[in-house]
Amino acid sequence: TPPSKAEVGHTAAVGHGLDAKLQVVDENQRFTDSLDDHMRGWQLAHSGFNYDVVAVFGSQSTGKSTLLNKLFGTRFDVMSESERRQTTKGIWMSKADQIDVLVMDVEGTDGRERGEDQDFERKSALFSMAVAEVLIVNIWEHQVGLYQGANMGLLKTVFEVNLGLFLAAKQKGKANGSSQDKTLLLFVIRDHIGATPLANLRNTLSADLNRLWDGLSKPDGLEQTTIETFFDLDFVALPHKLLQPEKFDESVQDLRKRFVKPAKGSEGAEGEGDYVFKSRYHKRIPADGISTYMRTIWDAVVSNKDLDLPTQQELLAQFRCGEIASQAYALFSQRLDAFPAAPGAGKIDSSLGALMVAAIGAALEAYDREASRYHASVYGRQRTELVGKLHAALHPLFVSHLKNLHKLVLRQFRLEVEAALKNDGYDFAKVVREAKSKAETTFDDEARKVVLEESGWKVDEARATLDEDMEHVAELLRKEETRKMVAVIERNIKRQMSDVVELALNKPSEDMWDKVLVAFKAALAKAEEAYLKKATSFNCTDDEKDAALALLRRRSWLALRSKIDEHTAEAPMLVKLKLVFEDKFRYDAEGVPRVWKPEDDIDMIFRKAKESVLELIPLYAEIKPAEPANAFDLPSSAGTTGLIDPAAASADEDFDFTESLQLMSPSAQSALSTRFRREADAYYVEAKRSMVASRAQ
Ligand code: GDP
Ligand code: MG
Repeated sequence: TPPSKAEVGHTAAVGHGLDAKLQVVDENQRFTDSLDDHMRGWQLAHSGFNYDVVAVFGSQSTGKSTLLNKLFGTRFDVMSESERRQTTKGIWMSKADQIDVLVMDVEGTDGRERGEDQDFERKSALFSMAVAEVLIVNIWEHQVGLYQGANMGLLKTVFEVNLGLFLAAKQKGKANGSSQDKTLLLFVIRDHIGATPLANLRNTLSADLNRLWDGLSKPDGLEQTTIETFFDLDFVALPHKLLQPEKFDESVQDLRKRFVKPAKGSEGAEGEGDYVFKSRYHKRIPADGISTYMRTIWDAVVSNKDLDLPTQQELLAQFRCGEIASQAYALFSQRLDAFPAAPGAGKIDSSLGALMVAAIGAALEAYDREASRYHASVYGRQRTELVGKLHAALHPLFVSHLKNLHKLVLRQFRLEVEAALKNDGYDFAKVVREAKSKAETTFDDEARKVVLEESGWKVDEARATLDEDMEHVAELLRKEETRKMVAVIERNIKRQMSDVVELALNKPSEDMWDKVLVAFKAALAKAEEAYLKKATSFNCTDDEKDAALALLRRRSWLALRSKIDEHTAEAPMLVKLKLVFEDKFRYDAEGVPRVWKPEDDIDMIFRKAKESVLELIPLYAEIKPAEPANAFDLPSSAGTTGLIDPAAASADEDFDFTESLQLMSPSAQSALSTRFRREADAYYVEAKRSMVASRAQ
């Protein structure tokens, strides 16, 4: 019975796997939508190149479907012997029992016999040639040698179609004319009585085929070709199914063996022996692309377009590789979404590189698994594109990773140096050098992990910035250390000078300042030496060294000055002057306290003592050694102290060394002398009184 309308485009027995047959092309010449489903149902969707395609060709009612069903365990419709009714037109497909073979059964009216046009016959021939590796040509024995017979017309169609395909490929420059493009024509001679040996039948058929080939009008450049240029020919005879049913079954079973892939290692000398699906016949369409490919081929066939198979394969590759790449990218996106959250500013996730590599690896593996079977250059091109997309998606992670790595390493560097500077006797240059090399190693190690292969990503710039920043931090720390050191040195000088100043200024003398300055210069020289010793480990520039020394000198000088100021303010000065005055007025030359006697010239002694004390005021008013060689001079620091201490830079402007030598202004001096006179006068009055008292005794 013909299939019902509902069966068209569906399997006759959905879900029964091997029983399932599919009408890939229906009587209206429409291509099915469910081939993909069937490929999955047949467990062939992911078999790559590990499947084969066989199609059958021959006149109507020559037992084609019967043969296929016997050979492959399929359930193609067979014309009932009693009814003799025509089955539905179309191309049917099924999977062979046990073996990964797609079997195509072509149904149709025999146009030639019925005088109809040969349109469908031609189209199904084209389609079969484009997809099948082996074409079974089914003929009755009694038709062999009938050169004018219907099957010769059929073969002529097959040959012409093949020439057309070849020519189209050649025009695209894609035909290589090698055995790779060949198809096997397997002639199955039915109802072989046995009177004529197969060898004879084969000769007759071969001769006929060659004659047919010679008679074809061949395109330019293909005049010299023979059948063997495009086809391998093979011949099999089967006994009469009804008259010799057992022998028929036996022969069919033998024939079936030739469709079963020989186990590895059991091949004959030729490699594949009797096996019909020689690898050179394979059309190299991956199983997951067969549905798209067949549909494209059928559409081209129906619309009478040039059927250029290599181009079709390339288009298929483009389409399928694109689809596979999208799936691979979706898989990658899922993995990317599952990445752990970013660890935050200044922190890194050391496993990021491995995660990225794994995500890319998984995506490419998924892509390669399916896409690598397609047209090599299309596959390669789309792979490059996919890799580019994957890299682009990961690039922001790479950038922020580097940024955080930079932050992290720089902070570690600073902490490391700061910690090392807490140790006495550190060598600054060494400390920095070691911390820096450690930082660089960490950076390089971590950076290397996130630079993906062939990504073209660079870390040089980030690395250079890191070096610069570390230099900068080291410089700040060095300045800080210098400042601290200068402060310590300054404190030491201040302490040392305190006694010297007190001793010298409490005993006024001509060389009073000489003593102070000589001691100061000695202390300063020692301080400078201490600084320079330390500074060599700082890797300072000469400018910085000069600046630090200038700062040291000035700070020391100012320290000295403030110590001196303590002694030369009005109150302590008055004390000092009074002591000297007392010494001269109340004690005689031998240091014995005077007891005033009437003959003593109090006025004269008083005046002399007072005068000599007043003469001391200018001595205290200015820091001026008796011996000019002992003078201290502070050359202008010309603003270089700012290199060490920004605060010192502004102080530079209002500091004047010459002015700093001046301790008392003229008005301060005269104020001091006025106060002193007043105090001295009190001594005078007291002395006078004591003399009157002694006279009264
Ligand atoms: P198809 O149209 O070529 O697919 O032919 P079918 O397989 O539908 O069979 C057509 C008729 O031929 C059926 O009645 C079968 O029983 C019969 N038939 C099948 N195989 C043979 C055979 O080997 N010899 C003969 N004489 N008849 C056969
Ligand atoms: Mg049939």
